[in-house]
Amino acid sequence: MSRYWSDIVSQLTPYVPGEQPKIDGLIKLNTNECPYGPSEKVLAAINGHNTEALRLYSDPQALALKEAIADYHGLSVAQVFVGNGSDEVLAHAFMGLLKHDAPLLFPDISYSFYPVYAQLYGIQTRPVALAEDFSLRVDDLLAVGKNGGIIFPNPNAPTGIALPLTEVERLLQANPDSVVVVDEAYVDFGADTAATLINRYPQLLVVRTLSKSRALAGLRVGYALGHPDLIEALTRVKDSFNSYPLDRLAIAGGVAAMQDLEWFESTRQRIITTRERLVAALEARGAQVLPSAANFVFAQFPGRDGAALAAGLREQRVLVRHFRRPERIAPFLRITIGTEAQTDALLAALDVVLAAAPAA
Ligand SMILES: *Cc1c(COP(=O)(O)O)cnc(C)c1O
Repeated sequence: MSRYWSDIVSQLTPYVPGEQPKIDGLIKLNTNECPYGPSEKVLAAINGHNTEALRLYSDPQALALKEAIADYHGLSVAQVFVGNGSDEVLAHAFMGLLKHDAPLLFPDISYSFYPVYAQLYGIQTRPVALAEDFSLRVDDLLAVGKNGGIIFPNPNAPTGIALPLTEVERLLQANPDSVVVVDEAYVDFGADTAATLINRYPQLLVVRTLSKSRALAGLRVGYALGHPDLIEALTRVKDSFNSYPLDRLAIAGGVAAMQDLEWFESTRQRIITTRERLVAALEARGAQVLPSAANFVFAQFPGRDGAALAAGLREQRVLVRHFRRPERIAPFLRITIGTEAQTDALLAALDVVLAAAPAA
């Protein structure tokens, strides 16, 4: 705290990202990164980049990347916005599309960055409780009545549970008057994308990232798909904030990533296969695992304390994510899908932790 701080900064509660350990040798299953390196074509595009050109600003519209994304989704460039990671895209959506005189709705158990953006931009919010089984009920969103916008991840985070596309569409049909943002950070691991609905629903914004399913968390590339009017709102915010959110290397790497379908298909299949093995192995050890369509699982061991399990795993050099709040999810661990070898190491560590402290 300092007397030089603005009131806004004094009152912020910033988002706390998962630990990025400085020590080597930890098995990192705590921030949903891809355990495999990115496509060789991405590396070639970055390595082959004309570095002398770095003295020049990058393309403020990142047109080459927008074209690659538009091609991938079968949409037009006017329906694509790109940003410095999808977190930045989301922030612009909060400011440009979700700030109105009615509350913004999101699930009470969801991406914990949403309330942070809402606070930053002074947006009134209304958390909507997930059902008993941790699924999101469209009827519960609709029951609130007038809203200033709706945002949710699909699949949801940190539960991993997907909302069927028919339910997304039912929500769009019943909620034509405010923007619905579907945050598809994990969609490639088993859910149906709402990108196919963009041409029919002018209030739909789909937000995506290259961080998870394209193994480029460190390159910082995210994008949004939507009606050109929604895209224009994001562009107006961007051009009032930072004209060049994507650097030249990110644009070059991002284009290659969108074009390498072979790497993309085989990597996501690999992760899905490992996820199914991990789920079975956790259940064999007594865990309750929520049905995951993501590159992580959300699991609890009945009778055991989630924080103690996470701490025990850390002693075994395995990092997983634990959330203390809300209380309903405090028993759970969010475990990122790693390589086969990392999964073996996780299970071995878990066996040590479970044996050391038998369940209450
Ligand atoms: C990881 C994640 C993001 C942010 O991704 P970046 O593109 O790396 O900023 C957004 N939403 C959800 C739900 C995520 O899990």
